Parts: sequence; C-alpha cells; structure tokens
Amino acid sequence: MPPDPSGHHGEQWAPLADGGRHERKAVYGCELQPGHPGAHAAHVRLLPGPDRFIWIRWDIRARELGTLPPCPAERADPDPRSPYGDEPAPCLLFEGHVGPHRY
Ligand SMILES: [Zn+2]
Ligand SMILES: [Zn+2]
Repeated sequence: MPPDPSGHHGEQWAPLADGGRHERKAVYGCELQPGHPGAHAAHVRLLPGPDRFIWIRWDIRARELGTLPPCPAERADPDPRSPYGDEPAPCLLFEGHVGPHRY
C-alpha cells in the first residue's frame, strides 16, 4: 500500500470536527492497524473500576463513545529491554479488535 500523504485516515477526520469547523483539538487518532476494515477506534480514557475502558469508534457516517471490554491477549515474549522487565504485557486494545494486538 503506498503511503498516504494526508496521513493515517486523513479524510476521516471531518466527521469528528465539532460543528463542521474542522478543529482537531478533540480529535483522536485511530489506534488500529492502518488499512483495517470497519470502524476506527481510539482509547479515550480509563475510569476507576473494572471494565471501564472508554473508547471512541467512528466511520465516515457516525461516531460512538462507549465502554468496551479490554482485549484479553497478553504478549507472549516480553521485551527484556523494557523497564517493566518480563512482566506480562496486556494488549492495549479492546476485545474483538481487528488487526494485530498492540502492547
Ligand atoms: Zn483506523
Ligand atoms: Zn488485542
């Protein structure tokens, strides 16, 4: 796939601009694999308590804010150079996401 000069999902920002003014202050970047199928997704915040991962998901028509359960995957071969040593590294995405896991 050739590089996209407008950046990752550049044309997808318009629906996120508040009031159509195309401001990017409240805009999130997709955290899924570039070129993935389906809606884009970005982690917004983590609330206290279990299963309180707030995500925003959007496509060219709509956006949706809500909680999603975390992906249960953990990295099988932790990076020994990591400051966290060989602690298991959970996937940072939500359960059922498309593309590879992110740690
Ligand atoms: Zn995306
Ligand atoms: Zn995952």
